[in-house]
Amino acid sequence: MEKERVIIVGSGPAGLTAALYAARAQLNPLVIAGMMVGGQVALTHEIENYPGFFSTEKSPTGPELVAVMQEQATHFGARFEYDEVIEVDFTQGAPFKVKTYGKEYLADSVILTVGASPTHMNVPGEDEFIGRGVSYCGTCDGFFFRDKDVVVIGGGDSAMEEGIFLTRFASQVQVIHRRDELRAGAVLQKRAFANEKMSFVWNTVVDEIIGNGSVSEVAVTNVKTGEKSTIKTDGVFVFIGHYPNSKFLEGQVAMDEHGYVITDELMRTSVPGVYAAGEIQDPIYRQVATSVGQGSAAAMQLEKWLSEQE
Ligand code: NAP
Repeated sequence: MEKERVIIVGSGPAGLTAALYAARAQLNPLVIAGMMVGGQVALTHEIENYPGFFSTEKSPTGPELVAVMQEQATHFGARFEYDEVIEVDFTQGAPFKVKTYGKEYLADSVILTVGASPTHMNVPGEDEFIGRGVSYCGTCDGFFFRDKDVVVIGGGDSAMEEGIFLTRFASQVQVIHRRDELRAGAVLQKRAFANEKMSFVWNTVVDEIIGNGSVSEVAVTNVKTGEKSTIKTDGVFVFIGHYPNSKFLEGQVAMDEHGYVITDELMRTSVPGVYAAGEIQDPIYRQVATSVGQGSAAAMQLEKWLSEQE
């Protein structure tokens, strides 16, 4: 087993910032990054609300922002392993056991920054048509829908942001939302309503995704009238929230009823020496800016804890 001082699990903004701070504290952190660096942000086409990266010409893309963050952490000594953690054993206290597909580690301390994944609607046809019309990422798949009709499911910031992005490719984007008002913030709402390629189907839920080889329509119900109908479409983009990637942590750290890791104001989990930052412990803010703050706080507290152990 390889012995590490600090293992950071995950490489989104929280993980990369924790890595930067731990590296600058001379802790030689190892980031187990997953199969690619950046988490959900790496799939975001434009980031306009991360302070310090602003241009009236062009906002940075998620991959651009992540690349700079990784370069900065690496410069100060963070190391990256492209693998996924599949099991941890925190039950005996430090050193903690961390197992990936490829290796097993012992770590004096751990920061969990594994983030969240898109929620599925769990309707018939959804899983069947993933990659053949059903998508959870406009940035990744928008290009495949040039001059096609797509529907976007959800009424939050993600649905509006991605829906607006999809209008670059698609001939029309119909937003199907279960209520008659959006949850998204005012700026995105205004942009979405002003976009002539976007239209809205209110008070409506998707019952089934239908197709033959690829998506051809969705069966829907109007929740106000009970009326059932179908909407022809080439693509279904689902943006109805996220769930925490905490399955491998079950029984190891305290979580809430939705599977979010519980932390205190010092980013401590229920296990001394194990910290958490970013969306894995934050169902509320989920911003690059807040994740960065939580990641730096976790690394600072961890450094303090490690020095107290010596
Ligand atoms: P969200 O804010 O939780 O919105 C989810 C949307 O999906 C809501 O409109 C919700 O409807 C709908 N929904 C949930 N479950 C559903 C279901 N089973 N069937 C149909 N519709 C369903 O999630 P999000 O848009 O992914 O945003 C997550 C967080 O990230 C938010 O805090 C958001 O502000 C933030 N974010 C910010 C930006 C930005 O600032 N540019 C961009 C993206 C995300 P109801 O409205 O009826 O609940």
